Formats: sequence, structure tokens, C-alpha cells
Amino acid sequence: MTNATLHPDRQITTPGDQEQHHEENARFRFGPYEEFLKKYLEQEYRFCFFPEINQPKNQIALRHDIDFDTQFALQSAQIESKLGIKATYFFLMRSNFYNLFSPQDLHNVLAIRDLGHHISIHFDPTVYEDFHEGLKWEAALFRQVFRQEVSIISLHRPNTFFQEFDSPIFDIEHTYQAKYFRDIKYFADSTGVWRFGHPFDSQEFLQQHSLHVLIHPVWWMLDGVSNTDKLRTFYSQKVQSLKTDFSNNCIPFRSIHESL
Ligand SMILES: [Zn+2]
Repeated sequence: MTNATLHPDRQITTPGDQEQHHEENARFRFGPYEEFLKKYLEQEYRFCFFPEINQPKNQIALRHDIDFDTQFALQSAQIESKLGIKATYFFLMRSNFYNLFSPQDLHNVLAIRDLGHHISIHFDPTVYEDFHEGLKWEAALFRQVFRQEVSIISLHRPNTFFQEFDSPIFDIEHTYQAKYFRDIKYFADSTGVWRFGHPFDSQEFLQQHSLHVLIHPVWWMLDGVSNTDKLRTFYSQKVQSLKTDFSNNCIPFRSIHESL
């Protein structure tokens, strides 16, 4: 006997409705980050750097594109390191949100590398008229600053051209090459939403297929139910830190600090 026949007046929730509701919740299912990572370990995944991905099963390439803040990146790197997990962190060299040459950002990036993670370039091709020249220039700068080779990059907000661009650029691999993007299942939390579904709901995860998972630490290190809640918090933190920077570097600003 079904629920509906027992309670004929009760509003009936169909399995379809439940599924839709579940999917809506899954889109915003984030944090705590440590619990999220532990699930992969329980499912017997091994965390790998990109060039190590060579098995159809049990491997995961954990990727971080750092669009906003190196402090959140360091926080996620510390949580991973505590669990013995390695990840690849990609940083923008031409960002309006952080500056790899500032003392704090540089310290954070070096600390992430010291924890055993890989670091490289999150490349924004739209900054350049000729993206080949742009990448050549950024790679040279990166080598000089961090004293290491650039073997793989990720692209910032790639258009279809780049998503379908399968070759390395100047012998530098990128994360949208088919072997990382199509041959293994890809999940991303871009914009603070699991657009391609939550990894744990997928058959690939349940069957331990190798995965490429893109995590933006900003969506995991801030409190809030939705992506816009988190952005509100982040925005007010940025305003406060901008005020502090003004006051620390500009004496006349101190007289207006409180009134702003
Ligand atoms: Zn990005």
C-alpha cells in the first residue's frame, strides 16, 4: 500500500519532486572541507598530480584555481596536508584581487608549496592580444620568481576555443586537454554551484573512476548557505582590509577611517 492510499488528503510528493529537491540541495552542498576530502579517502581514491593520472580508476587530480584570495588557498592547503593529500594550486599573475609580489601573498604561495603541493599559473588569455606571447612572458616571470619549471597551467574562464584546444602551448600542458577534461570525469564548483552535479551523487564516484575535481577554496572557507551569502561576507572582509591598508600607508586617511 502506498503512502497516498493511506493518506488520500496529504499532498503527494512524487519521486520526481524529491529528486528535483535533492538536486537543488546538492548544487549548494559545500563544506566542511575536511569531511568532503575524507569521503574520497574512504572511497579509496589516491590524490595525484596531473602528470601522474594514468589509471582509469582510483585516481583523483585535485585542482585549485585561485581567483580571489591566497589566504583561503593556504587554509585549504593546510587541511589537505593534514590528511596527507596533495593538490595543484594555480595562481593568477595578472589579478586585480591579489598580488603575487605582495609580502603576504608571496608568503602564502610559498607556504602552500612547502606543504608539498604543486603551484603553477592560472592563465587569463583575455589579458593579451596574443595569448602565446602572454603565456611565454608569464612563464618566464613565474620561473624567475619561484625558481621552478611551469609544466602545466589552468585557464581562467576559458571560452569554447580553449575548452576544445587539445594541444600543449609551448610544451606546457593545460587542464582542458582531453586526457584531463574528457577522458576522466570532471567536476567543478565554479560560481559556488555544482553545475555538473555533486561528485558524490555520480556513478563515477560510486564506481571509483578516476576524477578531475576543481575546487575554488573561496566557496569552502566562508560561512553562508548560498554563493551570494559567502560573497557578501567576503566583500565586507575585503573592505575592512582595504581600510586597514589605507590607514597603514597613508596618514591623512586615519582621520576619516572611522567615518567610512
Ligand atoms: Zn579562474
